[in-house]
Amino acid sequence: MKVQLLPSTFDAQGRATLEQRLTCFLIDDCVAVDAGSIAIALNAEQRSKVRDIIVTHPHMDHIASLPIFIDDLYPTLKHPMRVYATSEVIALLERDVFNWNVYPRFSDLKNDYGPVMEYIPIPTSGEFDVAHLKVTAVPVNHIVPTVGLLITDGKSHVAFSSDTAETEEFWKAVNGTRQLDALFIEASFPNEMAKLAEVSRHFTPSSLGKELQKLTHNGMDILAVHLKPTHRDTIIRQLHELNIPKLSVMNPGEIYSW
Ligand SMILES: [Zn+2]
Ligand SMILES: [Zn+2]
Repeated sequence: MKVQLLPSTFDAQGRATLEQRLTCFLIDDCVAVDAGSIAIALNAEQRSKVRDIIVTHPHMDHIASLPIFIDDLYPTLKHPMRVYATSEVIALLERDVFNWNVYPRFSDLKNDYGPVMEYIPIPTSGEFDVAHLKVTAVPVNHIVPTVGLLITDGKSHVAFSSDTAETEEFWKAVNGTRQLDALFIEASFPNEMAKLAEVSRHFTPSSLGKELQKLTHNGMDILAVHLKPTHRDTIIRQLHELNIPKLSVMNPGEIYSW
């Protein structure tokens, strides 16, 4: 399985910058997990292939350019863009984003080929299919309804925490998998901002270090994501101080394979 964290900003030469402002992971060039930077970072080939998007929760950094992505492709879509989310998240997207005020309700619209956007409600127990992948969604502890994801292509197994603070069910599901090759885990704030992390339900390196003790698998790559750009260097230093084997910070734009 190939996983890329799409960059959200580029320097004057067009190279991806390391700061991550928006969240969008691309799996095997065709399935997106969240859609923060989806309209600004895909190359033409990826844009022609991505038709399945899993939305973990409706925060802006995870959906910012989803409406623009569908808008860009509108006349060319021969099949609807499939947006997978829990029914709670679908209701929030319809109420707050695709509501004719912020943007058109694409789920009601058709182009010359048919509907342009289709919601696929996902269960929070049991596996479902997304393209060639099998996915399990598990509620995590964030300030809006949010799911973490376990994803397999049949060979490799990876897990995405999405945005969360201390949580239980996600680790139970992760520990229950036969194998785990990579864990994408959030580390939003530096230790000094523990109060803000707590009220906004995010991790600091310190709370993440404690949380990872719930993980019974070992040997997998642990990739920290969702670092607040302003505090990136401090968070990286504090993550290194945890001395956890194979824990590193995921670089936007780089392709990781398992
Ligand atoms: Zn969030
Ligand atoms: Zn976020």
